[in-house]
Amino acid sequence: MAVMKFGGTSVGNARAMQQAIDLVVREQRNSTPLVVLSACSGITNKLVRLADAAGRSDLDEALSLAGEVRQHHLVLIDELITDPGVKPGLAEKVEAYVSKLEMLARGVDIVGELTERSKDMFCSFGELLSTTVFAAAMQEQGHRTEWIDVRRVMITDDHFGFARPLTRVCEANTEAIIRPLLDAGTVVVTQGYIGATDTGRTTTLGRGGSDLTAALFGAWLGDNAIQIWTDVDGVMTCDPRIVPEARSIRIMTFNEAAELAYLGAKVLHPDTIAPAVEKNIPVWVLNTWHPDAKGTLITDDPERLAGMSYGGLVKSIAVKKGQCIINIRSNRMLGRYGFMTELFGAFSRHGVSIEMISTSEVSVSVTVDDKSFGEELLQELEVLGKVDIEHRVATVSVVGDNLRMSKGVAGRIFSSLKNVNLRMISQGASEINVGFVVEESDVNEAVNTLHHEFFAGAENVGIFEKPAGTR
Ligand code: ADP
Ligand code: ASP
Ligand code: MG
Repeated sequence: MAVMKFGGTSVGNARAMQQAIDLVVREQRNSTPLVVLSACSGITNKLVRLADAAGRSDLDEALSLAGEVRQHHLVLIDELITDPGVKPGLAEKVEAYVSKLEMLARGVDIVGELTERSKDMFCSFGELLSTTVFAAAMQEQGHRTEWIDVRRVMITDDHFGFARPLTRVCEANTEAIIRPLLDAGTVVVTQGYIGATDTGRTTTLGRGGSDLTAALFGAWLGDNAIQIWTDVDGVMTCDPRIVPEARSIRIMTFNEAAELAYLGAKVLHPDTIAPAVEKNIPVWVLNTWHPDAKGTLITDDPERLAGMSYGGLVKSIAVKKGQCIINIRSNRMLGRYGFMTELFGAFSRHGVSIEMISTSEVSVSVTVDDKSFGEELLQELEVLGKVDIEHRVATVSVVGDNLRMSKGVAGRIFSSLKNVNLRMISQGASEINVGFVVEESDVNEAVNTLHHEFFAGAENVGIFEKPAGTR
């Protein structure tokens, strides 16, 4: 059995949905898949804006965005569904969801406050809508399919906006609700990204969380593959939007993939790998638009890894924009213990996660997400020392299992980037990454130079593949 997860662009419009349906039908020749879908691309962003508008009592804006969500799905139905007898019933379902969305917007407008809990409720409609249309299209085309509300199965804690599953309950629900359908040859279509508390409150797993949903189900079902279908030919040597010459990576270890995802490679949600590792299930990252391209296999299977080994140092480069550097300078650090504990305590009390860190005798620099902290944290840090902040920076990290054994990577980074202003450099604790910080305006130059440094020539090695459709 396999879990097939289709991301936003893979279900964004009628043509994409039909392509995804064809892939599900193709997979069914091997076994009946569980299909996990994201919202249509752009819809979750709209829902976030809608929620914010309602929260600041801009009801006109909120209702106008709800209108756009309705319109998107009605057009989708119109283009995807051919049977005129099916269209009205399906349009009614869409209408019912959008009316709820409008009711929610009105409620939040009246209360005048947007909580994390109601924000999750807003965000859940994208996946509910996309799966409803997809399942109906599958049924119309004669494929035995059942739509499941994942909130019956994915029971989570109540950490709204970043909920995590209550594994035992979820496993039991998966056995009771999903497995029997799959065993009977019925394709199950369900939502990624969302869940519910045991009291029935809608939650979300965090942005990009559909990958995580797929991996969790893969582990709970003991599947033989987790397939992440997206808009690129697998995990690549860098984000192709930044480096046009980026190559697809045919195979990588769980460690490498997890590290890359945490360090900013958006193609996988950072927590996707853990469930797969636990049950040792291979993860495939595949391109919906080039289904026969090789994509990326993520595995720790020594035989498969040995069959495609790579002697180069770096396998991929990850970039995270929207960061800032916070520098704390204090003579109190000199020869005194406890300073770091106080410093990290402040970040942890404010729930701000530190990405990179670099220390000298009298100062500590850390990078954090620019939107993740407020004045309160800064006030607390001021007590410890002089605080300087640099906004609009990006972290760039090179990742590869072979970095473990090698020295001199930092030197190569420094010398190849001599024309770029490196703001910070840091060796990752995992030993398989080295990272540095540059101003956002320098990202393109830095990353393309680095890609050339580590991949020129290596691009034609067996584990790298030119993405389909490129020259
Ligand atoms: P989906 O909607 O299918 O989940 P995402 O937009 O979340 O897709 O992720 C796919 C995007 O991730 C790609 O279009 C690409 O721009 C970006 N990306 C960033 N880093 C990488 C990388 N190393 N390899 C491939 N894609 C990457
Ligand atoms: N639709 C959600 C998002 O845009 C989840 C996902 O696509 O994985 O973040
Ligand atoms: Mg994604």
